[in-house]
Amino acid sequence: MVISAQESSAATQSADGIEEVDVIVIGAGVTGLYSLYRLRNLGFTAISFEEGDGVGGTWYWNRYPGARFDSESYTYGYFFSEELLQEWEWKEHYSAQPENERYLNYVADKFDLRRHIRFESRVASLVYNEASNRWTATTDDGYQARSQFVITAIGILSARYVPDFEGLESYEGVWTHTNRWPKEGIDMVGKRVGIIGTGATAVQLIPEIAKDVAHLTVFQRTPNFCVPLRNSVIDDDTQAYIKSHYPEIYAQCMSTAGSFMHMFDPRSAFSVSEEEKMEQYERLWAEPGFKKWLANFYDVMMPGEANEDYAEFVRNKIRERVHDPEVAEMLVPKNHMFGSKRLPCESGYYEVYNQDNVRLVDVRQDPIARITPRGLQLTGGEDFEFDALIFATGYDAVTGPLNLIHIEGIGGEVLKEKFANGPRTFMGMSSYGYPNLFTINAASVGNFPRSAEPLVEWVTDTVAYVRDNGHSRIQPTKQAEDDWVQHMREGGEKILRTQADSWFVGANIPGKARVLLTAPDTAPVMRAKRAEVAANDYEGFTLD
Ligand code: NAP
Repeated sequence: MVISAQESSAATQSADGIEEVDVIVIGAGVTGLYSLYRLRNLGFTAISFEEGDGVGGTWYWNRYPGARFDSESYTYGYFFSEELLQEWEWKEHYSAQPENERYLNYVADKFDLRRHIRFESRVASLVYNEASNRWTATTDDGYQARSQFVITAIGILSARYVPDFEGLESYEGVWTHTNRWPKEGIDMVGKRVGIIGTGATAVQLIPEIAKDVAHLTVFQRTPNFCVPLRNSVIDDDTQAYIKSHYPEIYAQCMSTAGSFMHMFDPRSAFSVSEEEKMEQYERLWAEPGFKKWLANFYDVMMPGEANEDYAEFVRNKIRERVHDPEVAEMLVPKNHMFGSKRLPCESGYYEVYNQDNVRLVDVRQDPIARITPRGLQLTGGEDFEFDALIFATGYDAVTGPLNLIHIEGIGGEVLKEKFANGPRTFMGMSSYGYPNLFTINAASVGNFPRSAEPLVEWVTDTVAYVRDNGHSRIQPTKQAEDDWVQHMREGGEKILRTQADSWFVGANIPGKARVLLTAPDTAPVMRAKRAEVAANDYEGFTLD
């Protein structure tokens, strides 16, 4: 059921026909839904504009076969409601997209959030009027809303990237980006399929479609370090254990750097004997999820010898699984450090390359030259024909979704231009000259909801602080923003995430500035920083 904003109990209409609310939220995914819930509880009127025709954000759009959590399901859901925690039963340790979408629908219904959401509404522009201290959002279909505050809950990875290949418009088969997989699915049975990309998305998708296709060609530019997910069904005993241990699970997640439940081994890989080190590598390898890196010796996740030692262990695991040594070598990553790109988790990915009907093509050696009416052609001249062509080519991360909205702050300054050389914010979520705008999507990586929940709480508490203390607007000082940008640059230099060319640093998008896009700090450090800022009467912000 779609209830329009006009039916929302919160909405009021101004004389000029524009809907008036206290807060505009953009997006109805994990962050947007919780923002609505918090805002309403704090007594604000709010509207969320959502591009899709349902809630879920990432879990609404990414319906490609194989899409599932890489975080343990019971660490991924919301923790703000004990009732919700007890009612919802995750069926698998790493839940798949259909269940995840159902969960977010369940949340929207349970907390009656739909009436605040205007679906199929993409915000095209967001313009600040200094005289009235109001933001006006205008959607693609011309609907307008005005508010004092705005929260962009538009996700880190929502602006899909399709490389600008010559000839794409001439392609006569079925094609899609994984982020726009049609609800009705794509019939792969007996079809010739091509897939471009081998990131976390492709690695989930490829084993699923390889089951059905007549022939699959995978175009790989960079092989990744992929680790076995080892998903399984949650049995009754484990379910009971999970439900009775949510406080401990939560506490554990909140104590770790990336808000996952795994804790690094405080020992160095080289502080133990070779046998003990290998025993730990093998033991963790046999375990599910991200444990292989997040519960490993601490120095495995730092640039240096331990990192390379473990990288070689993973390379050998790949070599063991792929029968053809030449293909195996193509799949072995050699140009980046283990963990410097987001690790894909896989379920039978490498075995796919042992199938007779699957071919791996190295497009670093021989790049894609153009898309043709029947398929594609490599620079070296080789032609391929497909019934379906899949772009698993990733995202213009973090700033990409903001750039899709024309955002104008004080004096008509355009955010996209301000962010041209990388985001300029204070703590990832607030930019000088854009009062009362919280770019909440730009503030976190890690186990997403575990970072997003406290972030939403901080932002909505801040909005309440402004209201309750007789202020009308809040924005960071220029100095706080400059200091933060410098901190991002300096802090970023030291961490693994900046060492490879990936979306973490915008290096996957031709022409995009190469800078770290999210904070270099751990999640506990970021929470402490925000708490300190709030405790010191919003130090670093101007309130007026
Ligand atoms: P991605 O990691 O950026 O991978 C994109 C792939 O497309 C890469 O292999 C890239 O090659 C390739 N590519 C891009 N342009 C190309 C071109 N012109 N020619 C040939 N190849 C090209 O994107 P993704 O796989 O969608 O994953 C993005 C992020 O989404 C992940 O890192 C992760 O954070 C998130 N994700 C999460 C889950 C989960 O939680 N379960 C699942 C999937 C994705 P290069 O590597 O050479 O650039």
